[in-house]
Amino acid sequence: MIPYGRQDITEDDILAVIDVLRSDWLTQGPAVPAFEKALCDYTSASHAVVVNSATSALHIACLALGLQSGGRLWTSSITFVASANCGRYCGAEVDFVDIDPGTCNMSPAALEVKLRQAKAEGRLPDIVVAVHMAGQSCDMAKIYALSKQYGFNLIEDASHAVGGSYRDYKVGDCRYSDITVFSFHPVKIVTTGEGGAALTNDAGLASAMALLRSHGITRGPELMQGEPDGPWYYQQIGLGFNYRMTDIQAALGSSQLSRLDTYVARRRELASRYDRLLESLPVKPLSQLNETASSWHLYIIRLDEKFERKIVFERLRDAGIGVNVHYIPVHTQPYYRALGFDFGDYPNAESYYSHAITLPLFPGLNDRQQDEVVEALGAALVAAR
Ligand SMILES: *Cc1c(COP(=O)(O)O)cnc(C)c1O
Repeated sequence: MIPYGRQDITEDDILAVIDVLRSDWLTQGPAVPAFEKALCDYTSASHAVVVNSATSALHIACLALGLQSGGRLWTSSITFVASANCGRYCGAEVDFVDIDPGTCNMSPAALEVKLRQAKAEGRLPDIVVAVHMAGQSCDMAKIYALSKQYGFNLIEDASHAVGGSYRDYKVGDCRYSDITVFSFHPVKIVTTGEGGAALTNDAGLASAMALLRSHGITRGPELMQGEPDGPWYYQQIGLGFNYRMTDIQAALGSSQLSRLDTYVARRRELASRYDRLLESLPVKPLSQLNETASSWHLYIIRLDEKFERKIVFERLRDAGIGVNVHYIPVHTQPYYRALGFDFGDYPNAESYYSHAITLPLFPGLNDRQQDEVVEALGAALVAAR
């Protein structure tokens, strides 16, 4: 079976992890701040707070921005459920914005229409989570301008887009957002096993997120009430969690990060190769904006209407091609339907979903395997007509 994604672990990665295992610190040691510094160096963000998953990063990002019960968070319906759930963790109301059918990212036009209406009704969002689907940045300058006009905070869910760029800037530099979130799950661009990061240029947000990551506990006298009792002293100054990343994971992350550009270059090469090989087939890749350079986390095709997606999918799986579907529209999940959403609410998201298939794409995929995928797809399309 050729999987749709696979991590790449080198001997250097293994040695970096072994070094930590032989050291004094398995967690809360020097590897975590070193990984955070490497993330800042790579993205040009001023602060990075690494945590045990992107889901945790989204949660503490929302809390640091002050989201609470009675608040509102909007995101795209075509994403992993975590982009929406972070709002629910805070007790906020979650709502969705339809996608642009070309890029499959949140449509800035649909967002603007919804904002205008929400303003009239006094129901503007507190936070919008812009998801960079498949590795391509949203049109951030437009969404950022809307955030200033309508007064909401902006989180980039860049779980897919580590190593991608928007205009001349690396995704994660937070030029057009308050906080950017990365995921280091093994299927993403670089991995720590499980892990995530929240990047920001705001020192206040960074220190709030660092507290939330570790029980709301500080050892910094400047944050304490009164004087420390002694060198052992700490204070819990708010309610936080244990969302820490271990040093074992952070060492793997730093080692992986040193190959990020190589990974993205190979993904990009494979994506252009898919573009060429699929030209004559009745399928459409996602469209790419001039201003973006995708990290190519996923290579997604949309089938022509006349094909049964399920048949194509099953044929490919039977042929040993590990295709997948990203994503089932979040608003159609039973949990969100129970909150009042229903089929038909976001037509572009639903139409996208019914025709989309994700083809295998990862740095270790070789040209011969890719040819095999394309050949199997051609045969599956003939069968599904
Ligand atoms: C993978 C993913 C997440 C969650 O990442 P974890 O690190 O597994 O918590 C969130 N948002 C999107 C868009 C993702 O793809």
